[in-house]
Amino acid sequence: MNKQTVRELTDAVVRGRRALVRVDFNVPLDDARRVTDDTRIRAALPTIQLLLDRGARVVLLSHLGRPKGKPTPEFSLESVAARLGELLPKRRVRFAAATVGPEAVAASNDTTADVVLLENTRFLAGEEKNDEALARQMAELGDFYVNDAFGSAHRAHASTEAVARFCKPAVAGLLMEKELQYLGRALANPKRPFVAVLGGSKISGKIDVVEALLPKVDALLVGGAMACTFFKAMGFETGTSLVEPDRVEMARELIARSGTRLILPHDATVAPSIEAGAQAHAVKRDGIPAHAAMLDIGPDTAASYGRAIKSAKTILWNGPMGVFEHPPFDAGTGAIARAMAEATTKGATTIVGGGDSAAAVEEAGLASKMSHVSTGGGASLEFLEGKTLPGVAALDDAP
Ligand code: ADP
Ligand code: MG
Repeated sequence: MNKQTVRELTDAVVRGRRALVRVDFNVPLDDARRVTDDTRIRAALPTIQLLLDRGARVVLLSHLGRPKGKPTPEFSLESVAARLGELLPKRRVRFAAATVGPEAVAASNDTTADVVLLENTRFLAGEEKNDEALARQMAELGDFYVNDAFGSAHRAHASTEAVARFCKPAVAGLLMEKELQYLGRALANPKRPFVAVLGGSKISGKIDVVEALLPKVDALLVGGAMACTFFKAMGFETGTSLVEPDRVEMARELIARSGTRLILPHDATVAPSIEAGAQAHAVKRDGIPAHAAMLDIGPDTAASYGRAIKSAKTILWNGPMGVFEHPPFDAGTGAIARAMAEATTKGATTIVGGGDSAAAVEEAGLASKMSHVSTGGGASLEFLEGKTLPGVAALDDAP
């Protein structure tokens, strides 16, 4: 996965030229279509800034939401361009209401603008089909291509995959590079002990990552609703917990195969429902009442997982430990985040991947205390599963 990056481009390629940059500006908007969280926009700034500083003009492509291949005003990137302009006060940022075609090409050649954000790539039916003709049109918008949209790299779309074949050189941006470095190094060459923490709602969505990580880690700590399917496999009462009945057999087989490396919660925080937080209490894992659900790992588990994290050198976390959106079921997730923050301080490499886990760390105000918080939920998961990301594969190999 050694790809050429934007830092290695020569002045002859960059200066005075148009950089076509695929970014991931898929940000949340409120009813007035104002950006409510600009994390992803800020994550692309180092690459944009580097290109501007080196004398390029920057032409940006991104998707936003799921407009299903036709223009949909609620998914316009216009307000995102406004926010980008605020983040780059010394630069002239403009929006173009077209994605490809004469109007877009004219915008890309508009020398009165330093940065041009083109309209949503998913307004075009060819985008998600990785259409070659569309990719050739996109290639006309720049003199070279930079992919900084790690969060979209697991999709072979016209703006992430095919375009890289027609707009050369095609290189990785700084955010893309950072993501691949952290996730790649953790998998290929982790400092040990290497501990993975996996949670979230469904074991079915995480099984490939469990399989891929088990042979590599010293311990795999399981939390979230996923744990309940394992409990079922162990013959425990799981009450009204989220269990995937068709995965119980698989869970049983995994337990049998993985020995002491697969670690399950010893206790659980249960309640009759998510709304009944006031009735939350801890039970041993074999004591889940028939009319209650496990909604978080219990305090003993949070403490022992915390100790395992603090004695590790590499920690990779994907998936919250409980229904963290609803306190008090955020306690386990918070404990993991704090333990990881402490581990970072002690010199460990700490990596958070997964949209909801990243949001939980952000909310806890601990994002800056992690070595790396991945901006790509699905992409980081597929990378950890050992899959090839088409948006990465399409870029030029490092010499
Ligand atoms: P990520 O986005 O970090 O990969 P997932 O999408 O897999 O994480 O899972 C996040 C969701 O899992 C959250 O919405 C959370 O409420 C839910 N969840 C975690 N633990 C439980 C549980 N015990 N019961 C039900 N839902 C849970
Ligand atoms: Mg999620």
